[in-house]
Amino acid sequence: VTSKIKDPNEDLISTEEYNLWFSQLEYHTGKENTIILSVPSAFIKDQIIQRYKKIIETEIEKILGKKLSLDFEIRQKNKEEKIEEKIIKLPERRRTLLKKDYTFDNFVIGENNAFAANACIAIANNPGKSYNPCLIYGGVGLGKTHLLQSIGNKVHDTFEDYKIVYVTAENFTNEFIQAIQNRETEKFKRKYRTVDVLLIDDIHFFVNKTETQEELFHTFNALYDSEKQMVFTCDRPVSELKNISDRLRSRFERGLNVDLQPPSFETRCAILKRKVIQRGKQVSDEVINIIAEKITTNVRDLEAALIKVIAYSELVKKQVTKEIAESLLSDMSKNVSDKKNITIETIQEKVANYFNIKQNDLRNKKRTRTISFPRQIAMYISRELTEFSTTEIGEAFGGRDHTTVMYAIQKIESKMKTDPTLHKITEHLIKEIKGE
Ligand code: ADP
Ligand code: MG
Repeated sequence: VTSKIKDPNEDLISTEEYNLWFSQLEYHTGKENTIILSVPSAFIKDQIIQRYKKIIETEIEKILGKKLSLDFEIRQKNKEEKIEEKIIKLPERRRTLLKKDYTFDNFVIGENNAFAANACIAIANNPGKSYNPCLIYGGVGLGKTHLLQSIGNKVHDTFEDYKIVYVTAENFTNEFIQAIQNRETEKFKRKYRTVDVLLIDDIHFFVNKTETQEELFHTFNALYDSEKQMVFTCDRPVSELKNISDRLRSRFERGLNVDLQPPSFETRCAILKRKVIQRGKQVSDEVINIIAEKITTNVRDLEAALIKVIAYSELVKKQVTKEIAESLLSDMSKNVSDKKNITIETIQEKVANYFNIKQNDLRNKKRTRTISFPRQIAMYISRELTEFSTTEIGEAFGGRDHTTVMYAIQKIESKMKTDPTLHKITEHLIKEIKGE
């Protein structure tokens, strides 16, 4: 019973939650209508009772077919056991930031990603010695994070004592800022300069973050000199990144740069089939083909479509037919293709025309209300109609920070609620931009 409750694959709780709270739970004894579990501390006991008691009780009832109540006991450990636990737990903790599904085994190789995937496999087999550094670039949802974390997982399995750090550029930046505030930059430096493998995801986030770039530059040099592996991902070729220091750019470009392209129809089918098996579901080939035909943008959209189809068939408890799949996906593919064709330039052009200002004004530093309000509207519409991140939108509007973009979006959203005229204006603009 406890193993079933503790089973992290049951989808009741996330892996992080499981690692944090449940991994320490042990079956203690059972009496009449009570199960007693043991926990290592009173704190953990309180947390589990508050958060999960209900879930556990329901699960027990499902398994045993009868209601049992739960009780907890704080277990006493002798010293030896404690030491043993420490040794066993360490590698687990290092792994927590890596998603365990992101492995090479789960990555379908097609002509669109073979070069990148094989480079990553070579790196994982021989960290620091094959392609160093390596930079993988490509659009959203094409598998950058999956490949990056696969390297981490593989190295972790093969080279047990290697220190692997996976971090998004955003978290790296935030951690660095925090280190400065807490006067802990030495600790920060030590953390990143003593790794064996450094994996940084989405380095386009470093745009405009001058101080963080500086810090990364030094980290890079230290690791490079000691032949430690570095792998980065970016949403575009490094040459197209604006506002990044030349010397850092040249570091990124130094090793191997490989790109990921959208998958072909055949690869899309293969990916869908793999995901179906991974989830332990069944979906007919006919339906797989329909999804692969309709969703052409990227793997993330492909997965979302598959989940939608599976969820539907499970909820209505019947096989999905060709017709049902087609109607389920019609909204999705429309939405996706809409987003694909609209550029921020088009949005800027239409908004500038509407407000009778110059397109360039939307991209410069002017802060007068006649300019800044249309600019905020254009940012809002960019977020609505394109797939660009707030960082990218900020860049397209004269290199503004992503927080500025977020502020603009929030402001327009809340203002629209109370101002029907503004609501009409944005609706009108959106229609016009979409060509409706
Ligand atoms: P990115 O970081 O480039 O935006 P992700 O790595 O997050 O993209 O990929 C999006 C989703 O698509 C993930 O769930 C990932 O597992 C899946 N995926 C991408 N490429 C493949 C592939 N070739 N085989 C299997 N799954 C893939
Ligand atoms: Mg990613």
